[in-house]
Amino acid sequence: MRRKIVAGNWKMNGSRDLSEELVGYIRSEAETLDSGVEVVIIPPAIYIGDVLKQAHKLLSVGVQNVGQWQSGAYTGEISSEMAKDAGCRYVLVGHSERRQLFGETDELVAAKVSRVLSSGLTAIVCVGETLDERESGQAEAIVAAQVRSGLAQVEKGDWQNVVVAYEPVWAIGTGKTATSMDAQAMHAAIRSVLKNMGAPAEEISLLYGGSVKADNAAALFAEPDIDGGLIGGASLVAEDFVSICRYFPAGT
Ligand code: PEP
Repeated sequence: MRRKIVAGNWKMNGSRDLSEELVGYIRSEAETLDSGVEVVIIPPAIYIGDVLKQAHKLLSVGVQNVGQWQSGAYTGEISSEMAKDAGCRYVLVGHSERRQLFGETDELVAAKVSRVLSSGLTAIVCVGETLDERESGQAEAIVAAQVRSGLAQVEKGDWQNVVVAYEPVWAIGTGKTATSMDAQAMHAAIRSVLKNMGAPAEEISLLYGGSVKADNAAALFAEPDIDGGLIGGASLVAEDFVSICRYFPAGT
C-alpha cells in the first residue's frame, strides 16, 4: 500500500549517546505526528539494537546496507535475514554513496533487492542522476534505467515491499535541493516506468531525498507523487527531523 514515510539515514554518524538523544526526542513527539506518516530510523547497524529498544513500536527501523548473500564467509557483511531477525523493517539499497564509493552496480543493486524481498523486508531503492547527467538532459533516462534494472527481478507478489527514493546525487549533502516541480516531474516519470514494468505503480511509495530541510519539506511533500522523504543530515538534529515529519499537509 502507498504509505507516507519519512526516513532518517544517519549514515556513518552518531554514537550511543546521540542515538539515545535523537530517538528519545522523536519518540516523545511521535504521538503528536500525523498517525498516517511512518517514521523510519536508519542508524549505523551497530546501533540498531539500541534504537529498537528505545523506539518501542512507535518508530520503524532500517539498515543502511546488506550483502547480497544469505549467510556465509563474507567477513564484515550482514544479511537481510539478520536485519529482519534483529527487528528491522527496511533496508536501503543502492544509495548513491554505495554506488559511488563502493562500486555498487545496477546488477548488484538488483541482486540485493531480491535478497531483501526474499527475506520479507522492504527495500528502499535509491536512484538519482549526477549533475553532469542532469545538465546534459539525461536525468530522466538515467533514472528510468536505474529503476528498470534495479527492480528487474521483483516478483509479482513482492511490489508491496518496494519503496523507491529519488535522490539526485548533486543534491545529497550539498544544501542544493531539486525544486518541488522538478522533483514532482521525476517522481511522475518514475511512476510511469513502474507502470510500464507491470508494477502496481499507484501503490508504491516514492520518496524524495537530497538536502530536505524543515524549510523545503512542505513544498516537496505537497506534490502529488512525493510520498515522503529520505533525510540525511537533517535526521541527525532531532528538532529538524521532527519538523520535517510534520510537513505533510493535513488529510493527505
Ligand atoms: C541521503 O543521504 O540519503 C540524503 C538525502 O542526505 P542529505 O539529506 O544530507 O542530502
